[in-house]
Amino acid sequence: MTVGDAGLPVRAFFTDCSGGVSLPPFDSLNLADHVGDDPQAVLRNRKIVSERAGATVAFLRADHGIAVAHVRANARLPLPLADVLVASESGVALGAIGADCAPVLIHDAASGAVAAVHCGREGLYLGVIDAAVAAIIDLRGRNADSGLLTASIGPTICGRCYQVPAEMRERVAGRHRAARSTTRRGAPALDLPRAIESRLAELGFGEVVRSDICTMEDERYFSHRRDGLTGRHAGVIVCAGPRTVGHIA
Ligand SMILES: [Zn+2]
Repeated sequence: MTVGDAGLPVRAFFTDCSGGVSLPPFDSLNLADHVGDDPQAVLRNRKIVSERAGATVAFLRADHGIAVAHVRANARLPLPLADVLVASESGVALGAIGADCAPVLIHDAASGAVAAVHCGREGLYLGVIDAAVAAIIDLRGRNADSGLLTASIGPTICGRCYQVPAEMRERVAGRHRAARSTTRRGAPALDLPRAIESRLAELGFGEVVRSDICTMEDERYFSHRRDGLTGRHAGVIVCAGPRTVGHIA
């Protein structure tokens, strides 16, 4: 597994801050076009990531909701606001950007379909993980075992760093018990990656890979909490279509 590899059966990886052309405070591989960075630099950075993916990556435009966009080959850009992108055509590449929020990549061995999800506190609360899974299962057109689903949760702010007001923790943990956490100093906090992993397990995923990297603690990654004005990294997944993922009876 190479650095950033998401550990899924198709091409899928997580980017970090390095290898791009943006200047501070977006240095250097910023993939977001809504944070004040030079648009030409963002375009160049997206090309760099697309070259690594082997296909032009469609990057989602997050809305902190549960909207889903189906991305087809030669989709018109920019995409509509959506925190979930799904694709079933071979060669379509999806990118979920973030900086502390979780990029979640999903692969369905039953259909070959893939999804890229942006999951922060609001998305988790509203059910963005369930929305993504519903969309990807809807593409199957037939019943199949949910154990054929695999996912990879990328670098995310951890449950020891993500301090929130007590009432916010109660609100989110009321729906996702695994989200309840405390910081190293004992303040109320949310554990997004643990909550996402728990929900995916409840939904019957065969395997969930989870990065142990905390974006706020690891300066190789962008962190909105740590730096305020900053860039965004991404989780990228490339659909291989139904034939290239092995025979599924
Ligand atoms: Zn942390």
